[in-house]
Amino acid sequence: MPRKIVVIGAGIAGLTTTLELVRLGYSDITVIDQFGPGFGSSSKSAGVVETQYLDRSGIHVRDFGLRYFEDFARRYGITLTRSGYLRLGATEEDLKVFQQSVDIQREFGITDPVVLDAEEISARWPRLNMDGRAGGVFGPSDGHVDSYEFCLRAAAVLVSEGVLLMNGVKLSGAQRRPGGGWSLETGAGVLEADVVVNAAGPWAQRVAAVFGADMPQNNQLRPKVKIHHEEAFEQLVPFVMDYVPGSGMDGIYFRSETPNEIFVGIHTDESILEAQDPERALGHAPQEFIDRVMELLPTRLRMPAGISLGRTWTGLYAISPDNKPIVDFHPAANDVVHVMGAGGSGIQLAPAMARIAAELVDSGRTITFAGTDWSLSRFAAAASK
Ligand SMILES: Cc1cc2nc3c(=O)[nH]c(=O)nc-3n(C[C@H](O)[C@H](O)[C@H](O)COP(=O)(O)OP(=O)(O)OC[C@H]3O[C@@H](n4cnc5c(N)ncnc54)[C@H](O)[C@@H]3O)c2cc1C
Repeated sequence: MPRKIVVIGAGIAGLTTTLELVRLGYSDITVIDQFGPGFGSSSKSAGVVETQYLDRSGIHVRDFGLRYFEDFARRYGITLTRSGYLRLGATEEDLKVFQQSVDIQREFGITDPVVLDAEEISARWPRLNMDGRAGGVFGPSDGHVDSYEFCLRAAAVLVSEGVLLMNGVKLSGAQRRPGGGWSLETGAGVLEADVVVNAAGPWAQRVAAVFGADMPQNNQLRPKVKIHHEEAFEQLVPFVMDYVPGSGMDGIYFRSETPNEIFVGIHTDESILEAQDPERALGHAPQEFIDRVMELLPTRLRMPAGISLGRTWTGLYAISPDNKPIVDFHPAANDVVHVMGAGGSGIQLAPAMARIAAELVDSGRTITFAGTDWSLSRFAAAASK
């Protein structure tokens, strides 16, 4: 068991990993963050946690995530809002794939998702515009968490467990110690570590470089917009995702917040935009994103009267080359574990990423998700094929 662990990053990845390490009995853990808990992508998120995924591994890790947040909400009082998740499909072929997803979900004990055709969706939610869509898969128990609230609560839990949380402390360098482990250079002086966890989100590539590793990750700008509408909805709209994975296109998502407000975002798991420096200023959504929202939204929603733009913001998806997380040892050292690259799914996947990271620290191998390949070596294997 390593004596001293330092976690870089108090976003959801770093905090859930630390919670898992505490669960395994580790007691000498320091978490540093250049800002504070949740200040990175974790406070910009839509916070959706859902299981309407298409492959077994994707469903397994998301089911784990949903149950994790359910348990955390019960124990520590954060809110998990189960407003449902509807993934739309364009073709009959999509609906067949959705039915396979429903069948796999049943194997995991998730019994309420259903495949609905376009008519059934229009009958349930008359506000939705199903032109050009064959139907969708609906998970009534899916929902969303406030991931910033989660980070603040998780940080408080960890401090009460004896974890040292250092806010406003940035890692700037690292020296290998002769007897193993690292001396970490930070704004608060040198920290000694037997094991380091790199959970630095959009900065994870930079942090990896401090340890001499060139990790594949690309930061993509993603906007979110709140829209007010004077005409009240009689029925709230669930979270609707109109993005076709692997399409090379972006898609729109939205959900009602109140009868007079919807949240809208543009999503794609793919790196279709220019890569962004993590230091770039993140502020309001740029006008071209707002234009794209206003172009796509009426294609899926029968627009209410009296629309006005509310708060807008942007955040970064930190995306790996195959849009799946990387949770693995450093290429040249088994005392650095990278937990990164979860793109637009880093909230729902954080519990599974954390479990894998903690198992790697503890035993050097993946146990709970043995069928999930989030290793770094998968990219080399793909390149050599
Ligand atoms: C608009 C938007 C909507 C999203 N919606 C969803 C969604 O609905 N569902 C979902 O599952 N995911 C969603 N995501 C993705 C999700 O928010 C991210 O994948 C997740 O928050 C990443 O968490 P993280 O802990 O890896 O990174 P972060 O939250 O960015 O945390 C990294 C932390 O590391 C710290 N750090 C970096 N460098 C250093 C250093 N050198 N020294 C010290 N500290 C450092 C940073 O300050 C930061 O706090 C969304 C993202 C965006 C932008």
